[in-house]
Amino acid sequence: MLVGRVQAFRKHTLFRVYNGRVSESPRRPTIALAGGGHANLYTLRRTGELVGRGFDVVLIDPAEHLHYSGMETGVLSGSHEPGENRIDIRCLVERGGGRFVRGRVAEVLYRERALVLEDGLIVPYDAVSFCVGSGTPARDGAIPVKPIANLERVRETLLAPVPDAPRVLVVGGGAAGCEVAANVVGLLRGGKMTLVEAEPDLLPTSPRAARRVMLERLRGPGVEVVLGQNANLQPGAAVLRDGTKIEADLVLAATGVSPPGLFRRSRLATGDDGALWVNRHLQSPNDAGIFGGGDAVAFRGARLPQFGVFAVRQGPVLYHNLQAVLWDEPLRPYKPQNHYLYVLDLGDGTGLAIYGPLTWRGRLALRIKHHIDKRFVKEFS
Ligand SMILES: Cc1cc2nc3c(=O)[nH]c(=O)nc-3n(C[C@H](O)[C@H](O)[C@H](O)COP(=O)(O)OP(=O)(O)OC[C@H]3O[C@@H](n4cnc5c(N)ncnc54)[C@H](O)[C@@H]3O)c2cc1C
Repeated sequence: MLVGRVQAFRKHTLFRVYNGRVSESPRRPTIALAGGGHANLYTLRRTGELVGRGFDVVLIDPAEHLHYSGMETGVLSGSHEPGENRIDIRCLVERGGGRFVRGRVAEVLYRERALVLEDGLIVPYDAVSFCVGSGTPARDGAIPVKPIANLERVRETLLAPVPDAPRVLVVGGGAAGCEVAANVVGLLRGGKMTLVEAEPDLLPTSPRAARRVMLERLRGPGVEVVLGQNANLQPGAAVLRDGTKIEADLVLAATGVSPPGLFRRSRLATGDDGALWVNRHLQSPNDAGIFGGGDAVAFRGARLPQFGVFAVRQGPVLYHNLQAVLWDEPLRPYKPQNHYLYVLDLGDGTGLAIYGPLTWRGRLALRIKHHIDKRFVKEFS
């Protein structure tokens, strides 16, 4: 039925999306950017070059701004201003002569080379790069830490004038849960926070020294860390495996991320969890014109660590391959880095830097992080 809709809507859609260009002949090939996530930023910034080379560029995203994740916990704690980490993706595409379409891709009709948006709009493409990120399932009133912009809501809630000091529960003690918890500590104002992790240790995939530092940071007045317990979420509470009930005014879910259902729905090849399967050229095996990067893809079928640093490194490869496939030129392979640096903001003026087996905590680590992050965001302003 959707295929029929494509035929019926194609002309109408071309008018809506490419208003003013319908009569151009021959048609300019369209490069679509589905989601303005970290891996598509490189291409977005070069929209003008693509338009100059004869492509139409269209960005589809429900939001006009991307919240740069490296700085979001700083926005939560107040060390960065709200807005300091926002990248105006609409401006990036429009400044280069491309189009911004507000919407969410719901399905890909890859045989027709068309994207169906949630509102029914259909956007044809010749090549498309998916960078739609991942989400944390939200259940029973818990606020998921992904999309990352949710953390701004958390700050507002914690700073709102209420008679009672807040009780906060963070579920999940991986990098995201720990970093969020460390930055909530300073907003408790006499309240309480509990962090529950199912594994026997925090940061289960990090070096032992990093786990020790994080545990030290999260042990203090009003803060409790519960390890080795599964939390069963209920509205306003969690029940642990041993029957303990932890009540909270604010429950934050940091229980891992999963890709959107759109690739499975579209019958594209996916990894086990529904992430878009891409080969070493970040290309789907179903359609040579489909590429993808960031949290939403399974690289050669397997998930890479879900860090923005991987997405950012994929950007230049996507930019090259989107054009190469339309010019029938050789594609460039993507090679994931073996080691990567990540610095967790501990919310007390120090950072915890982790690089492979190496760990370092200090004020300088956080200063370096702020410097790198601010320089990155500035590149896109
Ligand atoms: C608390 C926390 C802290 C983190 N800190 C760091 C850090 O310091 N360093 C680091 O490297 N990583 C960090 N990460 C991980 C990082 O956030 C992700 O790896 C990164 O955001 C993935 O980028 P992405 O491009 O795949 O997606 P995103 O950056 O999430 O972007 C996805 C984009 O797609 C849009 N979109 C979503 N669905 C659709 C759709 N159906 N159609 C069209 N558009 C859509 C969204 O609006 C958004 O603009 C952190 C994560 C969390 C939760």
